[in-house]
Amino acid sequence: MPENKIDNYFDLIIIGGGLAGASLACALKDTALKIAVIEAHELSNDFQPSYDDRTVALSYGSRCIFDCMGLWSSLEPHAEAIDTIHISDRGHFGITRLTKEQEGVEALGYVIENKRLGEQLYETITSASNITLFCPAELTVLRQDDKQVTVDILSGDTHQVLSGKLLVAADGNNSQVMQMLNIGSSRKNYDQVALITNVTPGKKHNNVAYERFTDSGPLAFLPMPGNRCSVVWTLSPEQADYLYALDETDFLNQLQQRFGFRLGQLKKVGARHIYPLFLQSAAQMVQGRVAIIGNAAHSVHPVAGQGFNLALRDIALLSELVVDAKMVGTGKTAGDIGGQALLQQYARLREQDIKQVYRFTDTLVRTFSNAITPLAHLRSLSLFLVDILPDIKHQLANQSMGLNGRLTRLGRGLRL
Ligand SMILES: Cc1cc2nc3c(=O)[nH]c(=O)nc-3n(C[C@H](O)[C@H](O)[C@H](O)COP(=O)(O)OP(=O)(O)OC[C@H]3O[C@@H](n4cnc5c(N)ncnc54)[C@H](O)[C@@H]3O)c2cc1C
Repeated sequence: MPENKIDNYFDLIIIGGGLAGASLACALKDTALKIAVIEAHELSNDFQPSYDDRTVALSYGSRCIFDCMGLWSSLEPHAEAIDTIHISDRGHFGITRLTKEQEGVEALGYVIENKRLGEQLYETITSASNITLFCPAELTVLRQDDKQVTVDILSGDTHQVLSGKLLVAADGNNSQVMQMLNIGSSRKNYDQVALITNVTPGKKHNNVAYERFTDSGPLAFLPMPGNRCSVVWTLSPEQADYLYALDETDFLNQLQQRFGFRLGQLKKVGARHIYPLFLQSAAQMVQGRVAIIGNAAHSVHPVAGQGFNLALRDIALLSELVVDAKMVGTGKTAGDIGGQALLQQYARLREQDIKQVYRFTDTLVRTFSNAITPLAHLRSLSLFLVDILPDIKHQLANQSMGLNGRLTRLGRGLRL
């Protein structure tokens, strides 16, 4: 097989050009860093796992990060604002509403289709002079020593060897990089799946996101452009298989029964897809010259739309640390973006935010996904209390908007 050894030294090698890997590359476009992105599947490929038929609810904090990366103006035309979040418990009295007016922000968040987001990220990557995209390309070998990290990649029938100072694993929750480095992860299965689709409601969605807790699990309706709603329906695997197999009319009837008539008669429904749900956590965020971001480091239940927002906060911190390190003058370890001190700092500073999101999503899932009567009363009461206690409500809104915890430069609206 041919081997290509042309100028293959990079500062940073990113394995995985999904939502997290591509966003990291975009954050570092037009910097002094020379970056390689290795992605297994092309954007338009049906097997591309990141840019599929899902939508992503971006928090207000994530919008600020994209804004400072210079991407928000190209994302905004494809995004629908969330002005109100309406949280209710099916069959019980508790209801709470979070509004953009109460929080004093332009919007609580935004909903964008993964494919549209992917198109904008890839447009940025392919037009940036400091980024080289290897796609489709597979990682075959990974070696590292105290000076550099080296990978062998296979693209079609061409082998290439790339070296760099830092490698970032952004290759999702079955991370090959982590397997190659023997980094384990803990996993808690929820015995639930998410059935996702989109529907056209009879009434205007008026930019309201609905989170409805039902005895089988949470059901979310998120506002999309064109007065469609993105549906994320948490169910047992058996219920999901049953609903997946129904024809459109029967499926819409079942969905209407669960959601109610707040949005009028549900009309058209799009393609349906099912995703297993779990909480997964990497045993370590760094090893040698490797840092882990996104789903490879942490996968959470989509109940509160936190997963990619959390990944963007990994990216905001890591990109800040490497840009600062690159700018440091000469010296033996100065400017070493894969150095131990930098990577340990990344792992340490991300710990608290990640743990907080684990706790937040896991508590929501456990409290709001069962029909035990005392618990049902308790959660009605907690929704009622959240609604009447402004401080708690503000805390909940801050968590939803991705504004809790230490904010990075990008998170604070500053350039890198
Ligand atoms: C139903 C559902 C709804 C969700 N809704 C939201 C939401 O509203 N808001 C939110 O913030 N988050 C949401 N999430 C979470 C979000 O989808 C993830 O956080 C996000 O996809 C993580 O991106 P990633 O790039 O880390 O991983 P992935 O999306 O898994 O991407 C990994 C990439 O790496 C590539 N790859 C894998 N292995 C290799 C290899 N060896 N070599 C090269 N490339 C490789 C893959 O092809 C892929 O492109 C949701 C998740 C689910 C399941």
